Amino acid sequence: MSRVVEADVVIIGAGIAGSALACALRNTHLKVMVLEKSGQPLDTARGDHLQPRTCEILQGWKVLDGFFAAGAEKRGKTIWRNPKNEVFFSSTYDELKVPEPYFAFLNHERIGEVLLHTAACTDNIELIKPCQQWSMIEHQPDSVVIDAVDDAGLALRITSKVLVGADGRGSKVRENTNFETHITRYKKPLVVLFGYSSTDPEALDLCIYLRKNRMVTLIPRTGGGCKIAIPEDRSKIKHWKQATQQELKQRVNKLLPQLELDSVRFSDIYQPIDLRTTRWVNNNTVLVGDSCHAMHPARSLGMNLTIQNIEMLAKALLGATPDNFNQSLSDYEQDNKPALDKVLDENHRYAEIMDSGSDEIFTLLEQKLTALNGDPDGLLQRLKTTAGYR
Ligand SMILES: Cc1cc2nc3c(=O)[nH]c(=O)nc-3n(C[C@H](O)[C@H](O)[C@H](O)COP(=O)(O)OP(=O)(O)OC[C@H]3O[C@@H](n4cnc5c(N)ncnc54)[C@H](O)[C@@H]3O)c2cc1C
Repeated sequence: MSRVVEADVVIIGAGIAGSALACALRNTHLKVMVLEKSGQPLDTARGDHLQPRTCEILQGWKVLDGFFAAGAEKRGKTIWRNPKNEVFFSSTYDELKVPEPYFAFLNHERIGEVLLHTAACTDNIELIKPCQQWSMIEHQPDSVVIDAVDDAGLALRITSKVLVGADGRGSKVRENTNFETHITRYKKPLVVLFGYSSTDPEALDLCIYLRKNRMVTLIPRTGGGCKIAIPEDRSKIKHWKQATQQELKQRVNKLLPQLELDSVRFSDIYQPIDLRTTRWVNNNTVLVGDSCHAMHPARSLGMNLTIQNIEMLAKALLGATPDNFNQSLSDYEQDNKPALDKVLDENHRYAEIMDSGSDEIFTLLEQKLTALNGDPDGLLQRLKTTAGYR
């Protein structure tokens, strides 16, 4: 015998997208079911920087304090160094007249936990994690029926008006509901390392290093840690995987000679893609996050754009009349997709620069950013954009 649940919204996947949507819909009139297949924490190496605009949204959802209680730290500076190791551009967000003029950083899995725990504490949200299995029994334009098995092995039959695919770039919801998908694969995978510095203040800021043939990024993590992302030729990946601690330290030292790290360790290899669906909405089904716009992490945008979009999706769901979710979802797509597509195009152009490994292209980038030092309006515009205000 299955437990029968009548829901307004069923969310498949509780990564950042699913957790953020559940968080935004907590304590509302909507009954929300969240089905997450994994019982494990999220991958710690992924998005960990919340833009000022994202922090503003989280404050609006009354969850920002929860991030600081969980150990989030503030960062205000971005530093660019050229191949001679000179700082040629640096920016801070203090001058920006926005409610939260800083980036908050917290390990990815902690961001997910704060969002999900905040959501799951409320009466209108039910979380099934790990959901042992689920399958779609019936899918009509205004309803969906899902059979699922919860973590204790108990069966549920969920009938919902809206189906949300928040199940990442390999989305099963997307596959099963006829969304046209386009994928671009970048040439160079990213090698991700974790480092720790007890002394170097540079490890506390976001630093981008233009090196010969590559652009290396250093991203601060809480407690003096940092994450280093290095684009690498496929043929050389195995050398990173097999390197000893000492060899890794030497390699990092060769790339970033001024950085004083106490320790460094290998984390993982990521194959970046640009994945986009031509639509986000199909009747009562809506895709969010990486399921409809997975992108190269070159500009640290995937998670931020997801949360920013979810603010709009939550408004659309909350503003819909009970029997007209589809119209509201369609309006949401029409109002938000064109602007987000432009950001994805920009991200792709930037990812191609990173992927190119071309010194000539890096020199042009250096010239462009250096020119902003004498252009207050251009600089302000850049600060706004990188803070998430468009
Ligand atoms: C190395 C790296 C660094 C990054 N850095 C940044 C950054 O600095 N800033 C930034 O903004 N973004 C960054 N990103 C991107 C960001 O992490 C992603 O865009 C974001 O996490 C996507 O969230 P999501 O919830 O859409 O997908 P996912 O995180 O993939 O979550 C999907 C969830 O769905 C679950 N799931 C999958 N299939 C099913 C199923 N069949 N049934 C039920 N559940 C299912 C999964 O278990 C998972 O929990 C980075 C990405 C990478 C790879």
